[in-house]
Amino acid sequence: MIPIFRYISEGLSQVEFPNVCVCCGHENTRQEHQLCSFCLDERFEDANPENERASSDTLLPEGVEFQLALWQFDKGGVLQDLLHQLKYHRLTTIGHDLGRKLGERVALHPSLNAFLKKDSALLLPVPLHYLKYRYRGFNQAFKIAKGFQEGYKEIPICNIDDVIRHKYTHTQTGFSLDQRLRNMEGAFEVNNTSVIKDKVLVIIDDVFTTGATTFELCRTVQRAGAKSVIILTVAQA
Ligand SMILES: [Zn+2]
Repeated sequence: MIPIFRYISEGLSQVEFPNVCVCCGHENTRQEHQLCSFCLDERFEDANPENERASSDTLLPEGVEFQLALWQFDKGGVLQDLLHQLKYHRLTTIGHDLGRKLGERVALHPSLNAFLKKDSALLLPVPLHYLKYRYRGFNQAFKIAKGFQEGYKEIPICNIDDVIRHKYTHTQTGFSLDQRLRNMEGAFEVNNTSVIKDKVLVIIDDVFTTGATTFELCRTVQRAGAKSVIILTVAQA
């Protein structure tokens, strides 16, 4: 391209799609990413610096081997805003960045990494009820799982119809753990047990709060024959 036209075209693309970090607004040199290196590598607090079995002090149900969150949730802060943009503003590529970072973090957790290498694993993004899926147009957990595949290694993702959420639930904010658990009872169903059987199911979600949602999903896949379960999230509330 003649240089003058290249400058004009690059200039216009910067006006149309300014290449800045969605988190801090600084210029982003890594074209394909939504977040800059600083925001991905240093801005947030590691939720499990000692590489423990769980990032929270919640008692893990039997068969749930690990519960790892990438970062500590910051109520009212930047991370909450990022996850909100991913979920409600359709900035789905943020999910990819966060998922890739989560994958890289898992690779640095010695016992979890060793566990994942032992058996055949399957990624299971927490399913959305079809009405929510239709309204939103995508599942944010699926976007995180796609990024995870890039940051860790190719673990296949469950097909969207293999495990479904057939119970529509409203926000559980303000509910006690007991209420949350009752609210989620029977929310999920496995349609295709053959893909689940004897696998390590790696459940992927954006935030781990009390575990009511993910633990119900764990029970569902365990009843369907999953060998064990790992819960991975971007944030630990
Ligand atoms: Zn940034």
